[in-house]
Amino acid sequence: MIDLWFSENYTDDVRLSIKVEPLWSEQTKFQRIDFFKNPTFGTFFTLDGLIMVTEKDEFIYHEMICHPAFAINPGIQRVLIIGGGDGGTAREVARYPTVQQIDQVEIDERVVRLCQQYLPQTASVFANEPRLQLHFVDGVEFIKNAPDGSYDLILVDSTDPIGPGEGLFTLEFYRHCHRALTANGILVNQHESPYYPREAQEMKRAHQKIKATFPIARVYQFFMPTYPSGHWLFGFAAKTLDPVTDFKPERWQQFNLKTRYYNPGVHTAAFALPTYVQEMLTED
Ligand code: SAM
Repeated sequence: MIDLWFSENYTDDVRLSIKVEPLWSEQTKFQRIDFFKNPTFGTFFTLDGLIMVTEKDEFIYHEMICHPAFAINPGIQRVLIIGGGDGGTAREVARYPTVQQIDQVEIDERVVRLCQQYLPQTASVFANEPRLQLHFVDGVEFIKNAPDGSYDLILVDSTDPIGPGEGLFTLEFYRHCHRALTANGILVNQHESPYYPREAQEMKRAHQKIKATFPIARVYQFFMPTYPSGHWLFGFAAKTLDPVTDFKPERWQQFNLKTRYYNPGVHTAAFALPTYVQEMLTED
């Protein structure tokens, strides 16, 4: 028997390796998709060699991309998800009975179809959720055509700013998000890690562009075992609502959702950033 290992290179001299059983591999028009299985992380998939979602820790990412926004504006009704083809983000949004419409824009239909086959834990929402409408187009194009003030919440659950995800980290994209949001609208986006230099640079650049577009632009953190360094960030941007002073823990608790990572204490703590991250966000 030969042991097979998947490795993700974090830098030229640091990598994470996971012993795997390969399940499926294919190259689409947009990216290479690989599905694997591992006793510790369960089924997981990678895009262009980078881990996207594992059965074991996906709840952390998907709860943290979604619930803070609903705890700040419990009145969210119309949601746009860009990326997120595994379905985990849509699954969490769909837990709110007050949500009326979920538009999800995923550039690569194969991600959705393969996740439906191999990752029903996240992707079963696509078959079971009547409020959700899937659009297989580029999120950059979709947002250009979105009417003004058409969404209360935009969640950008994207790959890194290389390949198809690149356009989701531009000033033009953030400006269209601002235009497409209601007055109480919130944008949350995948914001990379502050730790290793490549991701830290991308995070800094994205933050500067969001700050130039939205009056309220903050960053919050969470701990994601299978992402580089384990220390990951989301960007939070809004026209009027502040993620700390407008936080409504009692109203969020009335939704009575059982979560495994997110809770009101985590919400407050997530916006308190380590000094080196604060410095990175304020320096030019
Ligand atoms: N949680 C993951 C992470 O942080 O690494 C992201 C997972 S999700 C699968 C990312 C999705 O974004 C992919 O399925 C990819 O196809 C999609 N995507 C990348 N660029 C896109 C674009 N321009 N428009 C819409 N979807 C895009």
